[in-house]
Order: sequence, then structure tokens, then C-alpha cells
Amino acid sequence: MSVVKPIVQTMTATVAARTLRSGAALAAAGLIDPAEAAAADAAARTLPIAITPEIAALIDVTDADDPIARQFVPDPRELERRDEERTDPIGDGANSPLSGIVHRYPDRVLLMPAMTCPVYCRFCFRRDGVGPEGGTLSEAELDAALDYIRSHDEIREVILSGGDPLMLSPRRLGAIVAALDAMARIEIIRIHTRVPVADPGRITDKLIAALGAGTALYVVLHCNHPRELAPAAREAVRALVDSGIPMLSQTVLLKGVNDDADTMEALMRALVRNRIKPYYLHHADLARGTGHFRTTIAAGRALMGSLRGRISGLCQPSYVLDVPGGFGKARLGPIDLEDAGADTFRVTDWRGGTHDYPAAAGDAKAD
Ligand code: SF4
Repeated sequence: MSVVKPIVQTMTATVAARTLRSGAALAAAGLIDPAEAAAADAAARTLPIAITPEIAALIDVTDADDPIARQFVPDPRELERRDEERTDPIGDGANSPLSGIVHRYPDRVLLMPAMTCPVYCRFCFRRDGVGPEGGTLSEAELDAALDYIRSHDEIREVILSGGDPLMLSPRRLGAIVAALDAMARIEIIRIHTRVPVADPGRITDKLIAALGAGTALYVVLHCNHPRELAPAAREAVRALVDSGIPMLSQTVLLKGVNDDADTMEALMRALVRNRIKPYYLHHADLARGTGHFRTTIAAGRALMGSLRGRISGLCQPSYVLDVPGGFGKARLGPIDLEDAGADTFRVTDWRGGTHDYPAAAGDAKAD
């Protein structure tokens, strides 16, 4: 049975027209020197350029190290390839039984109806698949993907990802949500998006109505810097949350963007202030041409450790790594407990003080 039409709608005309998509456009907007335009276009052959007016307005052109520009303005280093980097760093392909589906864990599945985005993030882990030419599911492919979800009794949660699912028209998005809502077994629908910060004008009453479902539906905002939560973005978030949609966040740990405790603290506080619960802090994946964004894991753990004393548990994300090859997420800690000999654990408090804690009978202790 055909449930929904083939997808993807164009961006709102005004935003689409004003989105910067070439080195020349970046130069004309003052975001790069005209002499850098050709290099930007060369990098764009690995991942298209798209910078919406809202994102462009956040860039401080007087700051050569601006953390917003760093995320969206192409860098010649994207052409550098490191041995450990991969075209499919988290192994989507190894877990994709059919187009648009990634089934990595038994109880949940990724559904990727479109691979377009409002902006193209230079560190994207799917940079070899996203873009205006990244493709959308045909009507038949989408029906097959929904049939796959319908026919797998173990699936309880569907995560709409891509690309950015909120690039779909409200009508088409609503048809997908309705199709999932009609599957009694599905308990959670999750939508991962950058739209509220990159193109907040898309969060309209119509789009919010399309997300109305009897099934619990969460929107997970991809946000990497506190300045991304500008007034229009906050208004879009407010509209979503006021409609009853709970929001979570995911952040990518990025060198020169948010890899210092002050910025990360400000981001996490801003998210919670706007009623978004921080969910994941992702260690940057081994996507090709993104080495200049990656920190060490030791630096990430130290950053998480320093956050512990600065912000409440409500503000703390879980620091995770997607294991290359498609083996899912691993939590990177740090944890505050270690073995301290027979019958004793050693716990570390937020100031770094250590304390012995008695192991109960049956506590597993390492040898
Ligand atoms: S919005 Fe997400 S999928 Fe799209 S380019 Fe950015 S990180 Fe990649």
C-alpha cells in the first residue's frame, strides 16, 4: 500500500534564495576573502556549501577563528585524507538492509527519508552521502522502508534522520509520522534536526501540527555552540516545546568550536534554559577530511570531567563514540569509580577528592 508521496520539499523561497552556496557567494557576503573563493569551491566538491541567512548572521567576520564560521565555511583541510578516516565512519552501510533504513540495534531503527539539509556542516559524519544531490527515497522505497518497520516485531523506536527530516514539507512529514503512529508497536518517534537553529522559519504551526502523534515524539536538536541559540532559534524551540514536544540535544565535540569548558558550559546551560535536555556529546567521527575538527578522547574526557563541577546533572550530556564499522555507541566516561582492592571501591567527588566506598557482597570487582 502506498502511504506517502516521494519526498523533499524545497526550502522556503526567501531562505533558499539567500542561502550561500558557492565560494563567490561567501566572498560577496564578506565571510571569506575573494582570493579564497576557489579553494572554498574545491572543498565544496567533497561536501556542498549551504549557509542560511540565519547562520551567516551569527558569524563574526572580524574573528578569524569564529566558531560558527568554522562549522560551515569550507576549509582547504577538508581535502586532506588521513589513513584512519572512512567514507562511512559509523558503518551505516553494514547495517542497512534496504534504502533509507539503518538497523543497528534490535529495538530501534533509523529511517532516512531525505539526505538534504538546510546547512552543510563541514564535519558531517555522513558528508559522503548528504547534499542536494544526496537523494530522497522514492515512493516505492519509502513504502518498503515502512513495511520493513511494520514487519520487524522487535522495533519499538524509529529515529528520523538523514539529512534533515524537517526539510520535508509538513504534508509529507505528517504522512510519515501518521504511518508510524498507526503501528501500535512503535513507542517512540525521534526526529533529529538542525532546522530550528539553521532555518527556524520552517518551524511553523503547520509543521508542528504534522508532528502531532499519539506516539511519544521527541525532537533532538543538533546544536554545537551557544550562539546558535539566537532569538529566532529560541522562538522555534519555544513553539515546539509549548506544543508538548519534548526536546533533547546532540552536540559534536569540535576543536576550535566548543572544546573548552567555558563554551561547553554556556551551551549546556543555554539548552536547559530553553527546555532542551542535553542528550549526547559525540566524539567527532572519522569522516574523511575532518581531522582538523577532532580532539583527542583524553581531551574530551577531561572536558567532561571539568563540566561535572560546573553544571548540574540535568545539564550533563553523555559523551559517546560511534564505534567505527557500525557497532553502535560506546560511552567514553569519565566514570568516578575505580577498584581499590578487596571489598572497596574508590569514588572521586566533583572537586577531585577521593573516598573509599565499601563493596557490597555480590559487587563485581575487577581482578
Ligand atoms: S545537518 Fe546533520 S546531516 Fe546535515 S550536514 Fe549537518 S551534521 Fe550532516
